[in-house]
Amino acid sequence: MLTQVSPNVYILPFDSDRDRPNLGYVHGDNFSVLIDAGNSKSHLETMLDAIKTAGLPEPKLALITHWHWDHTFGMHAFSGTTITHTTTNGILKELTAWEWTEAAMAERLKSGAECEFCHTHMKIEYEDISEIKVVQADVEFSGDLTLNLGNITIEVTPVENPHSEDGAVIFIPEDKVLFAGDADTGDFYKLDGGYDQNKFYSYIKTAESIPYETYIHGHLAPMTPAEVSVFRKGIESSDL
Ligand SMILES: [Zn+2]
Repeated sequence: MLTQVSPNVYILPFDSDRDRPNLGYVHGDNFSVLIDAGNSKSHLETMLDAIKTAGLPEPKLALITHWHWDHTFGMHAFSGTTITHTTTNGILKELTAWEWTEAAMAERLKSGAECEFCHTHMKIEYEDISEIKVVQADVEFSGDLTLNLGNITIEVTPVENPHSEDGAVIFIPEDKVLFAGDADTGDFYKLDGGYDQNKFYSYIKTAESIPYETYIHGHLAPMTPAEVSVFRKGIESSDL
């Protein structure tokens, strides 16, 4: 079921057991936008069903925050247009060549191409791993991007961050909601969940220049600016 976080913004809350992140929905007068496509067709369909049940229009666009499987593996099942950063789309292109067999997955885990946390949760999400399908987005952007939904706008800002080599934050100024992807989480691919200090502070500088009132991290409940500050202090004292 959707949770309304502001007049025009909703989320399908995250599910840690299956590593399903929060999926966002921005309701516009002219068209509506999905934020992230989920970790599978099933995750995406759960979101689309929840939107329908809430009596809201089907989203026309899906904006992707970063390339990680839990945010992108539902893209192939989305009938609208998908949009992501050029860097994200480049990484997705590499992933389209990956084979989804037990042997290929084991090999990627061994070589470090795949992270253990992701590998484990893919096996939980997918009963049949051969159903995994990776596609590139239809539209790419390389700088800031603004979408005009009629009554409301979406501002997309690519951002250096400690979590992945790509990544954009998505701000809805009228509602003061910021979708951060997983940007202030550590890097599970290169640093085993650890943090690059410079990237962490560079990210905070960008994020804190945005006047949000609600902060949506991919895998946590929505936070107020005060809660974000406590969350970051926790990272600073234990992970940096
Ligand atoms: Zn991620």
